[in-house]
Amino acid sequence: MVQAVERKKKEQEIVRKPSIYSMELDQLKSWLVENGEKPFRAEQIYKWLYEQRVAEFDEMSNLSKALREKLTESFSLTTLETIIQQTSKDGTIKFLFQLQDGYSIETVLMRHEYGNSICVTTQVGCRIGCTFCASTLGGLKRNLEAGEIVEQVVKVQKALDESGERVSHLVIMGIGEPFDNYDAMMSFLRTINHDKGLNIGARHITVSTSGIIPKIYKFADEKLQINFAVSLHAPNNEIRSKLMPINKAYKLPDLMDAIRYYVDKTGRRVTFEYGLFGSGVNDQVEHAEELADLIGDLKCHVNLIPVNYVPERDFVRTEKDQIFEFERTLKKRGINVTIRREQGSDIDAACGQLRAKERKEETR
Ligand code: SF4
Repeated sequence: MVQAVERKKKEQEIVRKPSIYSMELDQLKSWLVENGEKPFRAEQIYKWLYEQRVAEFDEMSNLSKALREKLTESFSLTTLETIIQQTSKDGTIKFLFQLQDGYSIETVLMRHEYGNSICVTTQVGCRIGCTFCASTLGGLKRNLEAGEIVEQVVKVQKALDESGERVSHLVIMGIGEPFDNYDAMMSFLRTINHDKGLNIGARHITVSTSGIIPKIYKFADEKLQINFAVSLHAPNNEIRSKLMPINKAYKLPDLMDAIRYYVDKTGRRVTFEYGLFGSGVNDQVEHAEELADLIGDLKCHVNLIPVNYVPERDFVRTEKDQIFEFERTLKKRGINVTIRREQGSDIDAACGQLRAKERKEETR
């Protein structure tokens, strides 16, 4: 209660300026022209933002004082304040950032053999309401603006700068449903992928959705080389509706049609996230067989995610033997499958939701 009042106060005190990181290169060029400046300044500004990663507009020393002042009046250069930065024994780093209106969000850096991967958040809270997800408990507070998503990556990259490391991969699987904040997510992707931005290759980026069907069609039509994942978690309509209420609005058969459209349109494979819930919820051999029937004809990959006990819910963990049995059943049916292993558990790094838990693929 006290916190809510304080946040409200803070919200009223702060006149929020848009984040400079929300400006795509072309938008920045147009803004410069509208403000009587030369468009080539946009690339100079981008260099300061994404190569030098400056903390103040005043550090942009090749811009005129007048332009620096205009930028300061019009934009925020810092919209995230690092509240917590925790490093796990396995190198995973969890960041808790406070936004200008007092809300906080989590971003996680994971270490893999293939590089450093960051899991970004797209919303404060989430309205999708998956029954296994702690982020759902408070509902959706607000969407992040594109710049607030971009700045998560910039901040993490800055933390890596000292050791000369680079963020090479990106997963949009943090708190929130990316397709529920579609325009900001797409703007974020364009900036992060831009060779004058952070230049993270499309094939190193993965977007994951709970299944907002109209946006899957839209995303397919964007024809990007970005990796695409769907949180499936069930082999049939009935089980999926129990785990993910979104399935009542966007039913499994329709979801599968949208995914087929995506695969046909892009020629790319889709990854299915499948959380294994114990006590026979969705983890039995017959479920694996049913799953194989559902997706077997698709160019796809399955990530099995053994789910931990969720304190607010009744879900329990699937026994190890059962996990391997499930995996074997899928493999026998010719399905490409891996089991994920948790990362960063000693720092409480889980994002509070199934999909965003920091795990690395275990290939055995
Ligand atoms: S799992 Fe993801 S989509 Fe589902 S409620 Fe949690 S944050 Fe939202």
